[in-house]
Amino acid sequence: MDNIIINKEEWKHILVYIEYHHNKVHPISYQLIGKAYELASSSGYKIYGIVIGKNVILSKEQLRNYPLKKVFLYETEEEYFKSDLYEKIFSNSIRKIKPSVVLIGGTPEGRSLSPRISTEFKTGLTADCTELILNEDTNLVQIRPAFGGNIMAQIITPDARPQLATVRYNVMKPIEPIFQDEIEFVREEYHPNDSKLTILEASPIPKTKGIAEQDILVVAGKGVKKKEDLVMLEELASILDGELGSTRGLVEKGWMRSDKQIGLSGHSVRPKLLITCGVSGSVQFMAGIGGADNIIAINTDPDAKIFNIAHYPICGDLYEIIPELIKIIKK
Ligand SMILES: Cc1cc2nc3c(=O)[nH]c(=O)nc-3n(C[C@H](O)[C@H](O)[C@H](O)COP(=O)(O)OP(=O)(O)OC[C@H]3O[C@@H](n4cnc5c(N)ncnc54)[C@H](O)[C@@H]3O)c2cc1C
Repeated sequence: MDNIIINKEEWKHILVYIEYHHNKVHPISYQLIGKAYELASSSGYKIYGIVIGKNVILSKEQLRNYPLKKVFLYETEEEYFKSDLYEKIFSNSIRKIKPSVVLIGGTPEGRSLSPRISTEFKTGLTADCTELILNEDTNLVQIRPAFGGNIMAQIITPDARPQLATVRYNVMKPIEPIFQDEIEFVREEYHPNDSKLTILEASPIPKTKGIAEQDILVVAGKGVKKKEDLVMLEELASILDGELGSTRGLVEKGWMRSDKQIGLSGHSVRPKLLITCGVSGSVQFMAGIGGADNIIAINTDPDAKIFNIAHYPICGDLYEIIPELIKIIKK
């Protein structure tokens, strides 16, 4: 690969990909803007946004009061995301803006788009970052679990720009729309507006509220002895108007569906209340619950790692505690 020498001084500011589908901004965009705001506060960088889509009409409303300097709107004739076209538009925009940092959501769309952009610019890409810090020398320290979650790797891209990072949904805190500065919206054109991909058919998947969107979650771990015992935890979740999730242990046993798994290789969650039942607190599980406001942990082992982060640790047998809890809540 050619060694491209870049002048880092020419690459400034932060570009956030604002994912937009059918008049809706994907909520991950507000989480990325939140992280970009922190990075901008420490570096003096400005935050730019890029929106690509068809009939991008509501963006102004949806982005009002966020700390963005400019938002570039690219109109396409395409109803749906097309990786090759979006990459060309995005890369064209990067060439104009020359951002030091580009943040993209770790969504199916973002995961398809970001490696294409990194290849185009022969630059690094760190997927699924759990933390991002900008150094004084403008290098972005991209932190994420590595080697099966056993270490937290710090990755930098010292010799190339832009620095590309993706972040999974719910890993970063969303920013509140409390900013007063007027955002400049710039309509940009990109030609040719074509793609080599043809979408033959598209049918929307019915939208159900997944565990990533729940305010209250009960989590079952391997402390649950039999599959039938999950009924008790389902009841607890149900009377709290929440949902039952699980560790990977129970997914591997085939007791829980994989879309209910929380953690590094499952979902990241941000509930107001999370009740773990018979969960030890492995690094991989904890990687998915950093955003929970309140954690109640029930475990028989006083040394269980989950107690290190639980707001309300309960050392005891879930088979005694859960039925009591259900009784009390029902009362
Ligand atoms: C690459 C990789 C990715 C992974 N990704 C994930 C992931 O996304 N999510 C995930 O969860 N795991 C993941 N894992 C697996 C992870 O390492 C752990 O094996 C898993 O999280 C353990 O699940 P657990 O807490 O349910 O079980 P255990 O670690 O076996 O813990 C069970 C706990 O139950 C307690 N207990 C037992 N009986 C009772 C009782 N009667 N009442 C109360 N407490 C009781 C025990 O004291 C123990 O602490 C991953 C592993 C790898 C290598």
